[in-house]
Amino acid sequence: MAQQSIITFHDGHSIPQVGLGVWRTPDDIAAPTVRTAIEAGYRHVDTAAVYENEDGVGEGIRTSGIDRKDIFLTTKLWNDSQGYDSTLRAFEKSLRRLGTDYIDLYLIHWPAPTRNRFVDTWKAFIKLKEEGRARSIGVSNFYPEHIDRLVSETGVVPVINQIELHPDFQQKVAQEAHRKLSIATQSWSPLGQGKLIDLPVFGEIARKHGKTPAQVIIRWHMDSGLVVIPKSITPSRIEENFKVFDFKLDDDDRASIAKLDNHGARIGPDPKTATF
Ligand code: NAD
Repeated sequence: MAQQSIITFHDGHSIPQVGLGVWRTPDDIAAPTVRTAIEAGYRHVDTAAVYENEDGVGEGIRTSGIDRKDIFLTTKLWNDSQGYDSTLRAFEKSLRRLGTDYIDLYLIHWPAPTRNRFVDTWKAFIKLKEEGRARSIGVSNFYPEHIDRLVSETGVVPVINQIELHPDFQQKVAQEAHRKLSIATQSWSPLGQGKLIDLPVFGEIARKHGKTPAQVIIRWHMDSGLVVIPKSITPSRIEENFKVFDFKLDDDDRASIAKLDNHGARIGPDPKTATF
């Protein structure tokens, strides 16, 4: 297998560019799924408190035979825990469930602007980073205006923003705003929750490279400089989604995929108006 690629954050830590997403994966499935992924070569797992599978993810890592220090583990703070003290309490609970004493990347899951607590939450994140228990701190679903507020009120720039991003919703404005602040961009629902795989354009590009449509889409995220966390619980697909380090898209492929932008809408809620 070709060497897997990493992205280096502005705080000096690095994240494997391809990770496993585990949304909608209950504990008893999360544990074997994480083990399968680690066996296939993955070293990065993306979970969240609200996925209610941190126990299973922790068990999968512990029973994988790979040292905790060689795995990059992300979890996220759920909206109802936002606020300074409640964030610190929620972090302890996540650590306990995951069975670890540090998190590689802790994310504020949504800005939840109607709660207006994300700045206080970020202050607690800064404390966790200073203590070294969250090695890196970032955000998810933040608009550039939300990030600007964090930076102007605390001076601390998130290392990453995990946002909905796939070939028919490419988020060019957000990507450019992140680039200006040296914030990495991470794509959630990178396969459009599987719906993009059947588009003819990906079949054509896949045939040309001797790859599958899912591999082409994942490679498109990688060649775009994005961190990408495709989800599957099917062992053969988990393996397939990681065999992406031995080819590259060419200019024609990229031009064809560029044309898809904004042909589809976002799948998830708009973070500006979401009220959960
Ligand atoms: P995804 O785009 O990764 O699509 C997953 C689906 O695609 C699978 O359930 C399966 O049906 C299909 N699929 C996967 N591999 C395939 C293959 N090789 N061939 C054919 N079909 C295949 O969707 P997702 O789970 O929504 O997103 C990935 C991860 O992003 C999540 O698991 C989670 O970790 C993260 N996420 C974060 C947020 C957030 O708010 N931060 C929101 C949604 C998802």
